[in-house]
Amino acid sequence: MALIVQKYGGTSVGSPERIKNVARRVASWRAKGHQVVVVVSAMSGETNRLIALAREVQAQPAPRELDVLAATGEQVTIGLLSMALMDIGVKARSYTGGQVRVLTDSAFTKARIVSIDEGNIRRDLNEGHVVVVAGFQGVDEAGSITTLGRGGSDTSAVAIAAALKADECQIYTDVDGVYTTDPRIVPEARRLETITFEEMLEMASLGSKVLQIRSVEFAGKYKVKLRVLSSLEELGKEGPGTLITFEEDIKMEQPTISGIAFNRDEAKLTVLGVPDRPGIAYQILGPVAESNIDVDMIIQNVGHDGSTDFSFTVPRGEFAKAMAILEQIKSHIGAREITGDNKITKVSIVGVGMRSHVGIASKMFRTLAEEGINIRMISTSEIKISVVIDEKYLELAVRVLHKAFDLDQVPA
Ligand code: ASP
Ligand code: MG
Repeated sequence: MALIVQKYGGTSVGSPERIKNVARRVASWRAKGHQVVVVVSAMSGETNRLIALAREVQAQPAPRELDVLAATGEQVTIGLLSMALMDIGVKARSYTGGQVRVLTDSAFTKARIVSIDEGNIRRDLNEGHVVVVAGFQGVDEAGSITTLGRGGSDTSAVAIAAALKADECQIYTDVDGVYTTDPRIVPEARRLETITFEEMLEMASLGSKVLQIRSVEFAGKYKVKLRVLSSLEELGKEGPGTLITFEEDIKMEQPTISGIAFNRDEAKLTVLGVPDRPGIAYQILGPVAESNIDVDMIIQNVGHDGSTDFSFTVPRGEFAKAMAILEQIKSHIGAREITGDNKITKVSIVGVGMRSHVGIASKMFRTLAEEGINIRMISTSEIKISVVIDEKYLELAVRVLHKAFDLDQVPA
């Protein structure tokens, strides 16, 4: 018997019929003798609807009241799912975040979990209940309802799994696992059996949006094994999904590269011919940071004749704003020219196996060169190599890299 925390997202509980399917799936885990805690999101579209409703009434909804409102979406789902479980003879009890006592700070709409009282949940589990908990929400010290930020029920599930020291936290979603890359671009993309937390964080931050990043960080920190599974597969025929775990728990020899991630949402800015002197990076990036623009890659060239070039990337939506800032400081920092390009994308290969293999970067660059794809920027970390290329080459780059690193082959 294991203690399992399962989380079902908005699509999985999007209609009464789907809620009944979830109930049947939960029942099948109970029937195998496991203890099950289920964390649910609001029915799909519901949180958006509630937020839109708030905006119709108050242009800038008061954060505390917005949380009171937004938290109702999950409350609907826990009631319905508990009923659906009872209807098929499974003992079930629902809890809002506040009833469990998921204690958070008071940062309304983006609260952080401080502690979880597992007393109620434990007691109900021991009495044979399935415990159904509203994700995305908690209460602060004063008893005010808080929410954890969009997508926050993943984090709720992981936090509850950590508090209960659950054997596994299963995230049920509309895909059957984490893939080597986006199957819409590479049909040969494969579901990964396992991936490490570090790799998952890199893949997620690069735009593979299966899980909320915060929940992955949380799970890594508190050593919660996470599994991504599909709630849309037929009962009894479901696959094993993808287990996100620790490097030392992965028995097989790791392939060098686990996956290829990409991010279309990038734009590049270049400051040409600035004086090569201390403080110049700060003078350029300081005003950008002050405007709350997230800078991703940064490159400064070797200086020549006392001047240098400086490039960085920002989210595409911030491109115009960042260009305006640079134009404004151009004469002050003594730059010759400002240029920009918002038709770029970032492609990255990710894998912990990189640590113990040489020649990965050169293989990546050769593969791209053979297709005539020009690399505009490069950055690396211990387990990742990213390149910025022209947007029009994105799909080609992902396809040839996927093949070059044998990601379409099942590892021996
Ligand atoms: N219902 C919330 C949202 O839509 C939380 C979640 O789904 O994880 O953001
Ligand atoms: Mg979600």
